Amino acid sequence: MTPKRSRRTFLKGCSTGAAALAAAGLAKSAEAGKEAIVGTPYLCSTCGSQFAESEKPPANCPICDDERQYVPPEGQRWTTLEALRSTHRNTIKAEEPGLYSINTEPKFGIGQRAFLIQTPKGNILWDCVGLIDGPTIARVKELGGIAEIAISHPHYYTSMVEWSRAFGDAPIHIHEAERPWVMRPDPAVRFWSGRTLELRDGLKLVSTGGHFTGYQVLHWPKGADGRGALMAGDQPQICMDPKQVTFMYSYPNYIPLNAPTIRQVVERLEPLAYDRLYGAFFTRGKGIVPSKAKEVVQRSADRYLKAIRG
Ligand SMILES: [Zn+2]
Ligand SMILES: [Zn+2]
Repeated sequence: MTPKRSRRTFLKGCSTGAAALAAAGLAKSAEAGKEAIVGTPYLCSTCGSQFAESEKPPANCPICDDERQYVPPEGQRWTTLEALRSTHRNTIKAEEPGLYSINTEPKFGIGQRAFLIQTPKGNILWDCVGLIDGPTIARVKELGGIAEIAISHPHYYTSMVEWSRAFGDAPIHIHEAERPWVMRPDPAVRFWSGRTLELRDGLKLVSTGGHFTGYQVLHWPKGADGRGALMAGDQPQICMDPKQVTFMYSYPNYIPLNAPTIRQVVERLEPLAYDRLYGAFFTRGKGIVPSKAKEVVQRSADRYLKAIRG
């Protein structure tokens, strides 16, 4: 049985109880004894999270229900990759040697960008966008494909499983603390624990906590002409003034972090050598602190701690 088989055909060929299994999105093929997935992997329109296959859209999105996100006043909305492919496209832009950004236009979900980092030992996709389509896959293949995927935190998991499958089931590195937020479990998701995880070619994940307990940044030592780049995602978040960054529990709902947590984030970033910082949004300070980023992070943390001192 293939995933393309219709629900009607599927139910006809299966014994009693199949409907219940089908409703859960999983069923066993009588002939092959293999698990076949039925239903649609819906995406939440507000945060872009893709969920495990289901017959009907899920009842709610736990990521948007969380106090760090929001359900819009019009209510929860769902879409599919198929629909997204007809209304949106990705642009892939060179940022510096060995680094490309991937942006979806018009904005979808939270509106973040992803990055492709090229290394002689295979490429890494940092963070993720909801849209993946034929032209995107073709261009990324021209750039060397994707060997590994790492995503800063649950707001950007989106359709990570589709990206992995399009590139030979590339492993997806996620910190163990974020396991409850994976809405579409898959064998490609590799949970790791501890403070750091070495990836290929000197790239390293560092778990900082803060915005999420298992929040991770990616250190790219060869970035910025060898001075080092920090792939930060949402934290430290570049402000409208790119000479400032910030640290928040929730950006849309303006919930700050406390002093010990900010100190922890700064301490865990301290051992890393970097001069440049790339953020998740092109719209904030053009998404980059081009130089002296480590000083910017330290100075911004100091002024934040001063501001919240009681
Ligand atoms: Zn959502
Ligand atoms: Zn976030």
